[in-house]
Amino acid sequence: MNTIYLTTSEEDIRRAAEIIKNGGLVAFPTETVYGLGGNALDPEASRRIYAAKGRPSDNPLIVHISEFSQAEPLVKKAGGLQYPEGSRIPEAAHRLAEAIWPGPMTMVLPKAEGVPDATTGGLDTVALRLPANDTARRLIELSGLPIAAPSANLSGRPSPTSWEHVREDLNGRIDAIIKGEPCIGGIESTVVDMTGELPVILRPGLITPERISSVLGVPCSYDPAILGKPEDGLVPKAPGMKYRHYAPKAEMRLFRLKDEASADGHKRLLSAMEAEAEEYRRLGRDVEILCYDSEREAAEKLFSDLRRLDQENADMIFAAALDQSSSIGFSVMNRMLKSAGYNIVEI
Ligand code: AMP
Ligand code: MG
Repeated sequence: MNTIYLTTSEEDIRRAAEIIKNGGLVAFPTETVYGLGGNALDPEASRRIYAAKGRPSDNPLIVHISEFSQAEPLVKKAGGLQYPEGSRIPEAAHRLAEAIWPGPMTMVLPKAEGVPDATTGGLDTVALRLPANDTARRLIELSGLPIAAPSANLSGRPSPTSWEHVREDLNGRIDAIIKGEPCIGGIESTVVDMTGELPVILRPGLITPERISSVLGVPCSYDPAILGKPEDGLVPKAPGMKYRHYAPKAEMRLFRLKDEASADGHKRLLSAMEAEAEEYRRLGRDVEILCYDSEREAAEKLFSDLRRLDQENADMIFAAALDQSSSIGFSVMNRMLKSAGYNIVEI
């Protein structure tokens, strides 16, 4: 297949919207990572998304909308929740959407009949997001459809934070790539389950449990499965979380302090990584070090750094662990641990 490359001009977004309306696939920028979009209401388009990514078909897709009102026909009322008059969307979801959308948060709600099983991986819930990127919203608006979009990478590879990353993985496998700006968020959206009485985070991201809790005035917890390792045997409610993800080709190790609170911690981590790297370099191995100054910087750069080091054929990547007592640090560490296959060196 010949992949066409489009700009973010109105004319080009219109062409992209036509492709989506005709059942095709378009990669587009969002504020988190690039998405691979298709008509969420067309099971055939969803099947094409899975095929293009090589993604297991039980891993559901997030449905992107450009206006809150677009969510109504996609969800169904469930027992035990409060609803505003005339809406099928629970009260709490209205409040979160009002406070946080457009933004990097996905809400899981009971799905309406019309949403194909192929889009939700056979689940009876649907994941919805209203992205903060203008090109993404314009594309959804011009197509007149909700757009199903997972991250636009080959399954298992680090998520793409630039259109060049998408080209690396999906050139020749999809209809079009919109050459938008690099993503500012850098990690995928927070997924929050809104089907129960209290909100539960299924995938951590830049929208923190503290933020959700302060908007709703109730506690917001993490799904226990994301707090442990995969081999702990807990089944995550977000099926995608069980797969190996974000893996660079190089062997990756995460260096972590036994005593996180120590004042010169950052320095000690760095010198421990340098010392060990030196030993491997003497054996002729190309060892690269990743050490970020802040959690936000880590979120923005992690995936693109992993892809860059793959291109440079690094043999090993040593990365400094982040402070997990901050929610953003915890979210980025969730990705780093998966990238490193839980390969941790404690010093
Ligand atoms: P990606 O599209 O690659 O960002 O992955 C989407 C993530 O959202 C995956 O981890 C999914 O498991 C999760 N997700 C999507 N839909 C649902 C749903 N209905 N229930 C729970 N998790 C979902
Ligand atoms: Mg993904």
